[in-house]
Amino acid sequence: MAQAKKSLAKTTSKTQSRTASRPSVKNYQNYIGGKWVPSESGEVSENINPADTQDIIGRFPLSTPQDVNKAVNAAREAYDGWRNMPAPKRAEILFRLGEILIRDKETFTADMTREMGKVLKEAGGDVQEAIDCTYYTAGEGRRLHGFTTPAEMPDKFAMCVRQPVGLCGLITPWNFPMAIPSWKLIPALVCGNTVVLKPAEDTPLSSYNLVHACEEAGIPPGVVNLVTGEGESAGAAITNHTALRLISFTGSTETGRTVASSCAERNAICSLEMGGKNVIIVMDDGDIDLAIEGAIWGAFGTSGQRCTASSRLVVHKKVYKQFSKKLVERAKALRVGNGADPKTDVGPVINADAVKKIMSYIDIGQKEDGATLACGGRRLTRGDHARGHFIEPTVFTDVAPDMRIAQEEIFGPVTAVIPAKSLDDAIEIANGVRYGLSAAIYTSDVNQAFRAMNDMYTGIFYVNASTIGAEVHLPFGGTKATGNGHREAGTQVLDIFSEWKSIYVDYSGKLQRAQIDMVEGLG
Ligand code: NDP
Repeated sequence: MAQAKKSLAKTTSKTQSRTASRPSVKNYQNYIGGKWVPSESGEVSENINPADTQDIIGRFPLSTPQDVNKAVNAAREAYDGWRNMPAPKRAEILFRLGEILIRDKETFTADMTREMGKVLKEAGGDVQEAIDCTYYTAGEGRRLHGFTTPAEMPDKFAMCVRQPVGLCGLITPWNFPMAIPSWKLIPALVCGNTVVLKPAEDTPLSSYNLVHACEEAGIPPGVVNLVTGEGESAGAAITNHTALRLISFTGSTETGRTVASSCAERNAICSLEMGGKNVIIVMDDGDIDLAIEGAIWGAFGTSGQRCTASSRLVVHKKVYKQFSKKLVERAKALRVGNGADPKTDVGPVINADAVKKIMSYIDIGQKEDGATLACGGRRLTRGDHARGHFIEPTVFTDVAPDMRIAQEEIFGPVTAVIPAKSLDDAIEIANGVRYGLSAAIYTSDVNQAFRAMNDMYTGIFYVNASTIGAEVHLPFGGTKATGNGHREAGTQVLDIFSEWKSIYVDYSGKLQRAQIDMVEGLG
C-alpha cells in the first residue's frame, strides 16, 4: 500500500494552532446521501502539493467504518429509484455531467497538477479522459444491448437483459485522480448501480471535483457517495461491507490481493486493475528516433508513475549502443520541476515514501543488480526543488532480464535498457515478468509486428507507439498479476457493472418441460 504524502491533522491543540496559522486552508467534506458532511471521527488529513510541501491544498476527512456504513445506507436508499429510472434518462444526467467537466476543465486541471504533481498538459489529458469516458459511456444509456434468441419449445420467447449489480464500492489510486474514478463511476451509474467512492488519500480533490460536478448535474442524492481517507480504514471498510455487491479496485497488486481475498470471503464480485512492468521492444529495423520519442514519453511522462509506464526497453543488440546513447542524451535534457510551470517536462513524484522507494531501487540497480547507471539517479533538493519530491530521470543500461530493476514495479522516473539477440529473444524477455499490462514494438517489418502482437501476453499492445495512450472506447486491463480477467472502458466495462438475466416467456398456455417434452412432429 502506498504511504500517503500527508501529515495527519487530527483534532488536537497542535492542529488547532496550525489551523489558526493557515486560515485560508479549506476544509472539505464527505458527500453522503446528497449532503456534504464531516467524518464521524472529526479527523482530517492534509492534501499537500508534492512540488511544494508547504502548499497545503485542503483538509479532507479521515473517514471511519461508520462513515462508510452511512454512505452504504444512502446508496441503498437511492438504489431502487436510480435503477428504475430509464437508462436513457440516467444517461441524460450523465451528458450534463460531461458538459460541466468541459466547462471546468481548466480549473480541474490546475487542481490536479497541484495535488498530484503531473505537468499541466498531462493533467488536462486526465480530465479529458474523464470527459471522453462520460460522453462515450453515457451513450450506452440508449444501448445497453441485450439479445433475443430462439427458444427450443414452440410458443416460447427467450431473451437476455442486463441488470445492475446493485451497490458498488469503488477504490482508486492517486496517479490518474479523475480519469480512473470516472472509468468506474460512469459505467456503474449508466448501468443503474449506486456507489460509494473512496479515492486515494493523496489525491482526494480531483474526486471531490468529479462528485461535486455529479451533484450539479442533478444525480439524485445517495446515488453517488464520496468518503475520503485511508485505505486501511475507509478502504477496508468498503471492501468488507456485506451490502456492497461489487468492489472495483485499481491500485497495487499487493493491495488488490487483499481486496480480492475479502471479496472472496463474502462472495462479492471483484474487479481488479493492478501493477505493470511494461515493455517497449526496439528492433534493428525500427525508426530509432521515433522509438526514443516513445521511450522518453513512456518512461518519464507522469514521472514514470503510470501503470502503463515504459519501465523496460528491450533493444536489438545491433542498435543497442546507438539507442542507449540517444536515450541518455534526451533524458538528461528533460526539465524537472513544478508541473504548474509550462516549461517543466517531468514533475515531482507523489510523496516522501515514493522518493524513498524509488531511490532504494536506484540503489539496488547499482549495488545489488550491478547494472550501469547511465544517467540520473539523484534526488533533487536544491533551489526550486528544495520543497518538493523531485528525482532525476534515470536510465539504467546493461540490464539483465532477471535483475530486480527489470522485474519489479518501481513506479518512478526510472527505466531499464535490456539488450536482445533477436525478436524471439526480445519476446521471451518481454513476457518474462509477473505482470501483463502493456507492450509495444518499434519495427518496420509487418511480419515482426504481427508476431509480437500475437505472442506478447498483455492486455494492451502498440505498434510503433509507446506503451501509453489508451483510448476510452477500447477495453483496458491486463493479464497475469495485473488483473483478474475484467476489462474497464469500451463496452466491455458493462460486463463488470451489470449482470445478465435470462428471461423465458411461455405463451403456449400449457406446461412445456425443457429437455423433456418432445416437440410435435420431431422424434
Ligand atoms: P495502492 O494499492 O496503495 O492504493 C490503491 C487504493 O487502495 C487507494 O485508494 C488506497 O488508499 C486503497 N487501499 C490501500 N489499502 C487498502 C486496503 N487494505 N483495503 C482497501 N483499500 C486499500 O496503490 P497506489 O495508490 O499506490 O497506486 C499505484 C499502483 O496502482 C501501482 O501499482 C499501479 O501500477 C497501479 N495502477 C494500476 C492501473 C491499472 O489500470 N492496471 C492504473 C493505475 C494504477 P490510500 O492510498 O488512501 O491508503
